Amino acid sequence: MSDRRIAYFSFEIAIESGLPTYSGGLGALAGDTIRSAADLRVPMMAVTLLYNKGYFHQRLDPNGWQTEEPTVWTPSTYLAEMPARATVRLEGRDVRVRAWKYEVVGASGYRVPVYFLDTNLAENTEWDRGLTDHLYGGDDHYRLCQEILLGMGGVRMLRALGHADIRRFHMNEGHAALLTLELLREEAERAGRTEFRQEDVEAVRGRCVFTTHTPVPAGHDQFPLELVQRVMPDDDYGMDLKDRFCVDLLARILQLPPAQVTDRMRKLVRPGAHLNMTHLALNLSRYVNGVAKKHGEVSRLMFAGYHVDAITNGVHAATWVGGPVQALLDRYVEGWKEDNFSLRYALGIPREELWTAHQEGKRELLEYVNQKSDAGMDLETLTIGFARRAATYKRADLLFADVERVRRIAREQGGLQIVYAGKAHPRDQGGKELIQRIVQAARTLQGDVKVVYLENYDTALARLVTAGADLWLNTPLPPNEASGTSGMKAALNGVPSLSVLDGWWIEGCIEGVTGWSIGKEEDAEDRWARDAESIYEKLEHVVLPLYYRDRARYLDVMRHALALNGSFFNTQRMMQQYVLRAYFAD
Ligand SMILES: *Cc1c(COP(=O)(O)O)cnc(C)c1O
Repeated sequence: MSDRRIAYFSFEIAIESGLPTYSGGLGALAGDTIRSAADLRVPMMAVTLLYNKGYFHQRLDPNGWQTEEPTVWTPSTYLAEMPARATVRLEGRDVRVRAWKYEVVGASGYRVPVYFLDTNLAENTEWDRGLTDHLYGGDDHYRLCQEILLGMGGVRMLRALGHADIRRFHMNEGHAALLTLELLREEAERAGRTEFRQEDVEAVRGRCVFTTHTPVPAGHDQFPLELVQRVMPDDDYGMDLKDRFCVDLLARILQLPPAQVTDRMRKLVRPGAHLNMTHLALNLSRYVNGVAKKHGEVSRLMFAGYHVDAITNGVHAATWVGGPVQALLDRYVEGWKEDNFSLRYALGIPREELWTAHQEGKRELLEYVNQKSDAGMDLETLTIGFARRAATYKRADLLFADVERVRRIAREQGGLQIVYAGKAHPRDQGGKELIQRIVQAARTLQGDVKVVYLENYDTALARLVTAGADLWLNTPLPPNEASGTSGMKAALNGVPSLSVLDGWWIEGCIEGVTGWSIGKEEDAEDRWARDAESIYEKLEHVVLPLYYRDRARYLDVMRHALALNGSFFNTQRMMQQYVLRAYFAD
């Protein structure tokens, strides 16, 4: 069993809704990945940071303006403190790190440990103690320190916990890329050297796997080289991190004489000298992938010269299917939790039983909505769900490009109600304004279309909304949505999507069978107006008529969403692909 273990590093992980250690899709995916690894008995362990102050608590004032409050939580309620300690050097100081353990238990009882790294220890300075307070808070300096903690501290902590043999290190996004430097240092040390060589680079590359998650350039971390040199002085790291750091490192990594590295060096060390985490991870990984077919293609264009595969994301089926549909699946699809492929047989579920189960999930959602607001939503009206981070590229307000049109469609076609949720990053002014515009549109539509914006989107709320909506709406600006996973959660509940063809939906959409598309894949100019027009056309002429006047056919779409998309867009299939292509391939 030695050398079979997989170490999975992620800056955020959504383990359970009480642990505020995640912000969005990346964390949700990490949690689902770990749950499926446990189900499939993949010998994995995971490493992340603790975030003592949590991702924030969201408040919306009557005008829809978001303010933030720290989340108060007690790690010892959920996690077990480990006696092991590790140390990392930051700016010449020793920073002590502890780990808290959570065990994810798979369907057959197999356990995958998740280690949350924490610097809140009495022996650390006040500033260092705060390093694991905030997720995506602070400046570049704070973030670099956190990434050193996660990457280098994470490897050292695994060693301190007794994990000497690890087969693969999986970097879930570039935040963990500095683990490669720690592995290089280990290789050199093992050979009794203080400088690493080409053979060390080869050895490290043979053990690393990298998944890139965003086609948005700003989503790829890079740090000014002076900052890197200040925080990681070379004496502390046993290698030359001064001026020649990048040339030497690249020469070794790229197997080129230093004189020839300049061209590719520009990618790692931008003009103005930045250390780019994505390029560091790309250069030191044996296997690299994007998170959907299209994202793989886009990444190959962004990172010419690297081999970038694609493994489409999924979600953990047993976690995301709501109670009433779970009971139905237990009756009609034996063993669906152990074998998600068998969800294909959901095609045989009688329509009226799927309807009854769905209405049950919808009732739970609407009870929550009506208790949190005075919207007074009802069970008979077609309910659209839209819940995700309030990032501007996701265009949550696209549906309201023409508010009067929405009003007219709702009046003429049988009615509409809409449930929104999602947090904007505290410093994302555009995201906060997006929420405000939706709250304003809600007011304009009062009396004709019931619209609510629920506070504090988290995985518990995501579960409620993806199970209880009748239609899942997604409107990202292509090609920015690398994958998207909330529509997969909806599909597993038999909820079809009406979405822009981007990310996973390019693969998941069979028009009129599993759901509906918005716009065309290649639409370029005037995208906003055309996509809005497309939403109105589909709602008015296709979706609402089907829902109100041809319920049996609407239920056929629901069954296909569940059977065709639920059986494929799950982390069980995804984990099997990682095992075959990345973890245990030679
Ligand atoms: C699933 C999930 C997401 C991802 O949603 P997308 O629509 O794919 O962006 C984000 N946040 C939470 C809390 C989730 O559960």
